[in-house]
Amino acid sequence: METDKPEDAARQGLRERLEHILIRTEKATSWHDEAGRLRGLVNHDGYVPIRTRLAVEDLEFLSGARTELLKFSELGLRLLDLHQPRDAGGITSDTAHPILRCRSCMWRWPCPTFRAMSESFGSSRDLPESA
Ligand SMILES: [Zn+2]
Repeated sequence: METDKPEDAARQGLRERLEHILIRTEKATSWHDEAGRLRGLVNHDGYVPIRTRLAVEDLEFLSGARTELLKFSELGLRLLDLHQPRDAGGITSDTAHPILRCRSCMWRWPCPTFRAMSESFGSSRDLPESA
């Protein structure tokens, strides 16, 4: 793989869209604590009437959050389907622990893509020990 070539336009465009989502999300207010407080106020119809002040950054985030989170979830599931271990074959003296490689990128399991996903979305307990 050549690394001194300029990044291609499709890759650059994708990077810019992802960075835009990251920046917009960082600028938005976290609703974590407020959502916890509001959960206790849900009425018998299953709603919480609220009055709130939203900054422009919050509105920009909220307008795309559902769509973007759906896309990220779908991306994660597709990557998980692509990057999974398989027996690398070959002769090993340790038949109980055969060498596994990623069936997509062929790195030794767990591959860098799975590790990146696990670091972002999983807990460290979910990551198998690397031999
Ligand atoms: Zn992989």
